[in-house]
Amino acid sequence: MAMETIGRLKRDAQQIMVDHSFIFVNEYCTSKTCPTDANGKPVHKNDFQKLQNLVTEEIFCPKCRREAVERCFRESETQRHEMIFGTEAQKYDYLKRYSIIGERELITKNKGLKDYVPTTAEAKTNKDLATQAVLKIVGGTPINVLLTGNTGCGKSHLSFGIANNVNEMSRRDGHAMTVVYFNYKKIYNMITASFNDKSLKGRDYFLKIAENAQCLVLDDVGSELIKDSAFSSELLTEFLDSREEKHTIITSNYNFDSLKQLYDARFTSRLSRYQFPITFAETGDYRAGQIVM
Ligand SMILES: [Zn+2]
Repeated sequence: MAMETIGRLKRDAQQIMVDHSFIFVNEYCTSKTCPTDANGKPVHKNDFQKLQNLVTEEIFCPKCRREAVERCFRESETQRHEMIFGTEAQKYDYLKRYSIIGERELITKNKGLKDYVPTTAEAKTNKDLATQAVLKIVGGTPINVLLTGNTGCGKSHLSFGIANNVNEMSRRDGHAMTVVYFNYKKIYNMITASFNDKSLKGRDYFLKIAENAQCLVLDDVGSELIKDSAFSSELLTEFLDSREEKHTIITSNYNFDSLKQLYDARFTSRLSRYQFPITFAETGDYRAGQIVM
């Protein structure tokens, strides 16, 4: 091998060594001189001997550098998470932004479950069950709440209270959940109207909004039935299809057995998974009771 070639190889090898070489220098990073972390505390307590990067000549503390690299990684993880799932604020705003409410006043007046005033022992029990449902949802246990009872027993109020409490509590815990509340009859009518008018928001839109919601409320299922239960069965099945490991709250005037009579088994079998029933059997008109009080 020619001397020239050997010389070049040696230079290359030296360059590679320098590229990857750090030497200790006679300087120390102490808890007094090192930067503070996100909590305002020094990155380390002990003294660390500093290194010099022979390529850049930069002198740095290995402990502080490692912390900075890890922080950078954590931040980029957060950014990636937010790109996929949205920021905390966007997730928190989902409920107000995308919900379709039947009784408009629910969203402005009803702050949460605490505003539900039970007028019977059964209503008191069901309010407690609703609170348990909130804790399960925020804790990440997938459940399907089936809230049934006669018109006026307070189902809509309780279901909106669950939605609102999940929204508030999950944000407070630092992992805001996307929640959406659909009055089922309203969106059913909007979807069927969109068949003849493509400019209206239709099936794909509402299914997407629901799919992106970690917690979905479909209020008053069964109130749309005068039209077409076959189509509604299909639609409800589609709503539940995308809800593995998510949380769903369905309210209805019909109990589970009646729903099984009315709708296709594909829907009710999905509904029976992780079922968390809240049933009003005795409570009459909740709103009438409130007026008396
Ligand atoms: Zn340091």
